[in-house]
Amino acid sequence: METRRFARYRPDGGWEGIPEAEYKRQAPEGMEFRSVIRRELLTTGAAFHMRYFEIGPRGYSSLERHDHVHAVVCLRGAGRVLVGDEIFEVRPFDFVHVPADVPHQFQNAGEEPFGFLCVVDAARDTPRRVDPDDLAALVCEFPTPTA
Ligand code: MN
Repeated sequence: METRRFARYRPDGGWEGIPEAEYKRQAPEGMEFRSVIRRELLTTGAAFHMRYFEIGPRGYSSLERHDHVHAVVCLRGAGRVLVGDEIFEVRPFDFVHVPADVPHQFQNAGEEPFGFLCVVDAARDTPRRVDPDDLAALVCEFPTPTA
């Protein structure tokens, strides 16, 4: 049972006692990602989980969709977020809502880490890849990340 009530943030090391974790164990085909770390702030005792993700320069999260929603608040750096047929340039304190079953991806759009909080249901479905045809129908201006 998680008993932590406080975690000090250190700019160079993140929250004390909250280790850096893998973003995803593996990337299924079509769901590749680059330079993403996860810190789990709260994952017990509630119907939601609160996670912090940080994407390095030129990094990006999986392009994916799922039935659960994301409530995101940017904390650090500059990002570019695809949500369905919209693209948002985000900076600290901006809020992003990813509704159910909407394709989405987070990209770093700057030279420093792009960090954001992301709240999700504790019980949630597994992300699925976005069909390339569906993506092509949604958006034409979202830059494809280059490896
Ligand atoms: Mn997602």
